[in-house]
Amino acid sequence: MFRVAVIEGDGIGPEIIDATFKVLAKLVAKYRLEIEFVKVEAGDNAVRKYGVAVPEESWKTIKGCDAILKGPVGESAGDVVVKIRRGLDLYANIRPSKALPGVKALKPNIDLVIVRENTEDVYVRAEYVLPEDVSIAIRVISRKASQRIARKAFEIAKGRRKKVTVVHKANVLTVTDGLFKSTVYDVGRREFPDIEIDEMYIDAAVMDIVRKPERFDVIVTTNLYGDILSDLAAYVSGSIGLAASANIGDEKAMFEPIHGAAFDIAGKGIANPTAMMLSAAWMLKWLGERSNSRSYVEAGKALEKAIEATLADGKILTPDLGGSATTAEFTEAVISRL
Ligand code: ATP
Repeated sequence: MFRVAVIEGDGIGPEIIDATFKVLAKLVAKYRLEIEFVKVEAGDNAVRKYGVAVPEESWKTIKGCDAILKGPVGESAGDVVVKIRRGLDLYANIRPSKALPGVKALKPNIDLVIVRENTEDVYVRAEYVLPEDVSIAIRVISRKASQRIARKAFEIAKGRRKKVTVVHKANVLTVTDGLFKSTVYDVGRREFPDIEIDEMYIDAAVMDIVRKPERFDVIVTTNLYGDILSDLAAYVSGSIGLAASANIGDEKAMFEPIHGAAFDIAGKGIANPTAMMLSAAWMLKWLGERSNSRSYVEAGKALEKAIEATLADGKILTPDLGGSATTAEFTEAVISRL
């Protein structure tokens, strides 16, 4: 029996979580999955009610679960994700970008994975006010964190086109990005001699993600560059409503769409639940792989296939993909293919 903490989130969060639970209910019955889903309060509502984004009670529950399924959070997103990522040491943020069938992508040939370091960089949130209207932020890059994220990237590249690009700005940040870059090369050359390594400055990388994304297989980068780069890659591969991500540690993991709470369309019933559903599919595969439970992996793959088939069919699409279907109609279409 697995325990999964569920954060509904804000804006469209509750709508796409609700849609995702409809497909999960079907999978649980069909594949006889044993998962206890525990809803926890976190995000803007928790701030309004308790004054903090992740109340103590929620944090206790989250710590006791095997995985977390998280909807998009609004204003307090930073407080929620940073607490969970750092508190559970979910050090690898993995964000694949691939054009899905039937979706009009800016670049249909994009097929890359961004592996973003998730615990350091400016996300240590050490910002200070100095005298005379000066403020500073501290940026932390350690060899240990760079090594483990590099290993994750090379492991992923092994199962793909066997190329890792380290993205940095070591010409300016010679000490911090310099350490990150050299650590990636060290790990690669020593432990993964079959994987090709190259490097790119962040400013050149953003351009090439739009211009010729096919040059990338796996990108490994620091926290802030990875954040920015992956939103761009999601856009290039179609809609931001399609991209799922995982935050993975050695023991636990959190799965979430990369998009935000989309307050502009909240409550209208037209949000695209694809990224949320793909996050759930990824979670099922991850639970299955680490416990050798094939039915979970199969259930995750079946959900991915049902979503892809629905998109490829193209008849029932939400407005962000140029269709006129509601979240509920799209969800029914996915369920009918399971
Ligand atoms: P954040 O800073 O949290 O990422 P944001 O406001 O910058 O938030 P989003 O909330 O992701 O970004 O929204 C960006 C745009 O994409 C909005 O117009 C929103 O409606 C749209 N969008 C985001 N997610 C979806 C979705 N699942 N379905 C349809 N449209 C979406």
